[in-house]
Amino acid sequence: VSDLISELQTIVGDGHVLTAADLRAGYETDWTGRWQGESVAVVRPADTGEVSAVLRACASRRVAVVTQGGNTGLVGGATPAGPPPAIVLSMRRLDSIGDADPALMQLPCGAGVTLARLQQAAADAGLQAGLDLAARDSATVGGLAACNAGGLQAIRYGTARRRIAGLEAVLADGGVVSKMSGLAKDNAGYDLASLLIGSEGTLAVITRVLWSMVPRFADRALALVAVDSAAAAVAGARALLPRLPSLELLELIDEPSLRISLEYLAGSPPVPITPAWLLVGCASTGDAQEELAAALVESGLDERTVVAVDATRRQRLLSIRESVTEAIASAGVPHKLDVGVPLATLESFLDELPAVVGAAAPGARTFVYGHLGDGNLHVNLLGPAPDDESADEAVLELAARSGGTITAEHGVGRHKPQYLSLVRSDAEIAAMRAIKRALDPEGVLNPGVILA
Ligand SMILES: Cc1cc2nc3c(=O)[nH]c(=O)nc-3n(C[C@H](O)[C@H](O)[C@H](O)COP(=O)(O)OP(=O)(O)OC[C@H]3O[C@@H](n4cnc5c(N)ncnc54)[C@H](O)[C@@H]3O)c2cc1C
Repeated sequence: VSDLISELQTIVGDGHVLTAADLRAGYETDWTGRWQGESVAVVRPADTGEVSAVLRACASRRVAVVTQGGNTGLVGGATPAGPPPAIVLSMRRLDSIGDADPALMQLPCGAGVTLARLQQAAADAGLQAGLDLAARDSATVGGLAACNAGGLQAIRYGTARRRIAGLEAVLADGGVVSKMSGLAKDNAGYDLASLLIGSEGTLAVITRVLWSMVPRFADRALALVAVDSAAAAVAGARALLPRLPSLELLELIDEPSLRISLEYLAGSPPVPITPAWLLVGCASTGDAQEELAAALVESGLDERTVVAVDATRRQRLLSIRESVTEAIASAGVPHKLDVGVPLATLESFLDELPAVVGAAAPGARTFVYGHLGDGNLHVNLLGPAPDDESADEAVLELAARSGGTITAEHGVGRHKPQYLSLVRSDAEIAAMRAIKRALDPEGVLNPGVILA
C-alpha cells in the first residue's frame, strides 16, 4: 500500500491524500452513524484527469475505490466496508460551475458542487434547479446523480434522472466517458450516461453533470393540513393530485414525526396535533394561493389548515417537515427505510405497519413521513440495535408484498443488497451482475454496494 500512497500523492498532491486516522474519521462514518469503516487514505482529486489517474493506480493494485460526495447518503454506500483495502475518493474539490445556457436551461457542474450552490446558480440564471432536499448544503451533484435522488419536488420535476441532460464519468480502468453536448436527441448506441445515473458509485465515478433546470414560478403557496388518520392523508393526496396542476410538493408527517420535530425545533403546532399532517405546496404562473385554496376546498381539506404565502412563513412550515430527519437522528441511531408503495395500496401498508414492526422489534419507535405524493415514505425506527435487521426486513417485505419497492430514493447501498431479490427477479439481478462485470471486472468500485 505504501507505494500506492506515494503514487496518489504524486497525482493529487501530498496535502490531498489524508492518511492520519483523525483526518479520515469524518469520511469513514456515515451521516446516521450506522455505517462505519476504514480506508487506507482519503484522496481528494481536483479534476477529471486526476480522478482517472487515481482509478488506474487503484485498479492495478485491486484497491477498492469508495466514491464520496457530501456523505449525506443514508444506506452506507459512501462508507468503506473492507476487505479489500479501500481508499475514499472525495469528489468535493470538483466544484466548478460553468456558464448556464438560458435557452436550453442547462448548467454544467462539477460533481462536487453542492445542491445549494446549484440552486443559487439556477436562481442567478432566472431559473430553478427543479430538485430540492434537506441535505442541500452538503449533498453534491455527483451524489444526486449517483443515487438518482428524488426529494421534495420530484412530484413535479422528476428525480435526478429527469434533471440530468448528460454527464462525464471515469470508468474503473481510468477511461473517460462523456455526454455533455446537451443534445436532446442522440441515439448513437447505448446511453451510458443514463446507465450511470442511480449506479451508486459501482460502475464509474461521475466527474461532471449537465444539469437541466426548470422555469422559475414566482408565485408560491404552502398549506399545512391536519387530518384524522393516515387513510385520510392518502385519500387527500389522491384527491389533490388531479386537481392541482401547479402542485410542487405533497408531503406526509405522521404524529410521532411531527411531535419529535416540534420538540427539536421547540416550536408550537400551527394546526391541531392529529394522527397525520399533510404539507401541500404549489408554484404557479398564476395565483398560487387561489389555486391551492380551491383545490383544498374541492378535496375536502380546507378545515384545520394554515396557508403560508410569503417566503418566511412558508419556510417555517417546511422546516417542521425538513427537521424530522435531524430530530430522529439526534435521538439515537435510526434504522432508515425509504419504501415506495403505490398510492392504491398505501393505506393497507400503513394499516399493517405497526403490527409488522411490533412483531419484529417490540418496543421500537416508528416514524413515518415523506413524499406522499410519490408514494415514497420514510419509515424510521429507533430502538433496534444498529446491526439488528429484523424490523428492516419485515418492513421491506411488507413494502414488496404491497406491490412497492425497497428503496424509492436512497438506493440499495450496503444496507439492502440482501433484500434486492424481494423486488428484482433472478434475470434482472443476473443482468445487473453482467453489467457490473463488464464495466468493473476487478470489482474495485464500491464493492458490496447494490450487489452483495
Ligand atoms: C437530512 C437529509 C435529507 C435527505 N433527503 C433526501 C430526499 O429528500 N431525497 C433523496 O433522494 N435523498 C435524500 N437524502 C439522501 C442524500 O442526501 C442523497 O442521496 C444525496 O443524493 C447524496 O449525495 P451526497 O453527495 O451526499 O452523496 P454521498 O453520500 O457522498 O454518496 C452517496 C452514494 O453516491 C455515490 N457517489 C457520490 N458521489 C459520486 C460520484 N461523483 N460518482 C459516483 N458515485 C458517487 C457514493 O459512492 C454513494 O454510493 C437526505 C439525506 C439527509 C441527511
